[in-house]
Amino acid sequence: MADDFDFFVIGAGSGGVRAARVAAGHGARVAVAEEHRVGGTCVIRGCVPKKLLVVGAHFAEDLADAARFGWQVGDRRFDWPTLRDHVLAEVARLSGIYQATLDSHGVSTFHARAEIAGPNRVRVGGQEVRARHVLVATGARPMVPDIPGAGLGITSNEIFHLERLPARAIICGGGYIANEFAGILHELGVEVIQLVRSGQLLRGWEPALAERLMAISIAKGIAIRLNTVPVRVEQGGCGTLVVHDQHGHRMEADLLLWAVGRLPNSAGLGLETVGLALGPDGAIPVDRQGHTALPWLHAVGDVTNRIQLTPVAIREGHALADTLFGTTPWSVDHDCVPSAVFSHPPLASVGLTEGEARNRYGPVRVFTSDFRPLKNVLAGREERALYKLVVDAASDRVVGAHMIGPDAPEILQAVAIAVKAGLTKADFDRTAALHPTMAEELVLMR
Ligand code: NDP
Repeated sequence: MADDFDFFVIGAGSGGVRAARVAAGHGARVAVAEEHRVGGTCVIRGCVPKKLLVVGAHFAEDLADAARFGWQVGDRRFDWPTLRDHVLAEVARLSGIYQATLDSHGVSTFHARAEIAGPNRVRVGGQEVRARHVLVATGARPMVPDIPGAGLGITSNEIFHLERLPARAIICGGGYIANEFAGILHELGVEVIQLVRSGQLLRGWEPALAERLMAISIAKGIAIRLNTVPVRVEQGGCGTLVVHDQHGHRMEADLLLWAVGRLPNSAGLGLETVGLALGPDGAIPVDRQGHTALPWLHAVGDVTNRIQLTPVAIREGHALADTLFGTTPWSVDHDCVPSAVFSHPPLASVGLTEGEARNRYGPVRVFTSDFRPLKNVLAGREERALYKLVVDAASDRVVGAHMIGPDAPEILQAVAIAVKAGLTKADFDRTAALHPTMAEELVLMR
C-alpha cells in the first residue's frame, strides 16, 4: 500500500517543527500532528514566556535602583494582568509564526492528537494514515509528586495564566523552574517559600554558584527550606493551601507550584502496539541519531530524556531530518552543551564542574573572580557576581566555565564557543580585555 506521507511528526514543538521543516525542504511529503498549540513547551509554556516574565520582574530592581542613578521615579505599581496578557499575546504571535513556517514548507498540520496504530501507521483526527517514517517529538510534562492533595498545586503549565498573583507562594523544587519562578514571583512582590528536598539548590551545577544563588536569594527575602519534602497538601481557610512536610511542619500559602522535574510524554501514544519498550521514566530509547529499535520509528527531544533543552531538541530534529531525507547524515554532539538558569541573578554554565573535571582528568587548575558589578556598586547592592574557570592541568584546556551574575547567560554563550573549541587558558590570557565589562574578567583571571 502506498504511503500517504514520507514523514509523520507527532508533536509540533521545537524538535518536531524543525524536523518537519527540514524534511520538507529535502522534498519529503511531511505531516505534523499537534493536540495543543503549535510551538510546544518552549514557545507556549516554557522558555519564551518565562524569559519575558524574568525581564518584566527585573524592572522591580531596576526601578528601585533608578534613584541612585539620578532618576526620580514616581508611584510604582505592578499590574499582573498587563504583563501576563502581553506575554500571552507574544506567545500567540510566535505560535502563528511556527504555523506559518510549516505552511510555507508545505507541511500538512493535523490539529489533533495522533497515536501509533501499527507499523508505519498513525491514527489522527478520526482517520488512519501511512508514513514511511514516524517521529515522536512529544516532549515532556511536569511531574507532580504522588502525595495526598498534590492536585491542589499547579505546575509551570498553569502559572502563565494566573488570574491574579498570590500574596504567598510555596515552590517545591531546587532546579531550573523552581529557582526561575522563585525569582520572578519574589521580584513581583510575592512572599516565596522554596522547599528543596536535598541540602543544596541546583544539584549537579557548580556548587560555588549554587551556594551564591542561595545566599543572594535568602538576602533578597526568599525563604529556602532545605532537606524538606512535602508529604501532604490540604485546603486551608479562605482559599489557602496548607503544605505539611516530613518533619511535621505546616506551611500556608495561596499558591503551590510543583517544579520537581519533567517526565517524557510517551504514554498513550500506542508505542506498546508496536512492541517498543520504554526506558526509565517512560523515555523512548534512541541511538545517537534518534532512531529507535524499529527502522521506521524515531524520537527526538525531551521524550527521549537525554538533555531536556530546546536547542538540543532542535538540533536533534534537524540531524534526524537531514539523515533520513538529505544527503549528509549527522548526529548531535551532546557534550559541552551550555545552559542557564534565569534566576535573579541568572547562572550559566558550560562544560565540567570542578568535581567532574577532577574525576575525568585528575589534576585541574581552578580560577575564580568574585566581584561586585559596577551597576550594583552604584546602586548600593551587595550582590556579587562569581566566575569559575576549570582548566585541565595537563593540557591547559579550559574544560568548564561557570558564572552567576547579571547577563551570565549572554556571556556564557560566547564562552561556550571557546570551551567547545578546546581553547586553552593561555588562549584566554592572550586575549585583550574589553573594558569596562563583566565579561572581561574571563581574560583577567590569574
Ligand atoms: P530539575 O531537574 O531542574 O529540578 C527538579 C528539582 O526537583 C530538583 O531540585 C530535584 O531534587 C527536585 N525533586 C525531584 N523529585 C522530587 C520530589 N519527588 N519531591 C521533591 N523534590 C523533588 O527540573 P525542573 O522541573 O526545574 O525542569 C525540568 C527540566 O527542564 C530541567 O532539568 C531543564 O532541563 C529544563 N528546563 C530548562 C530551563 C532553562 O534552560 N533555563 C528552564 C526550565 C526547565 P534533586 O536535586 O534532589 O534531584
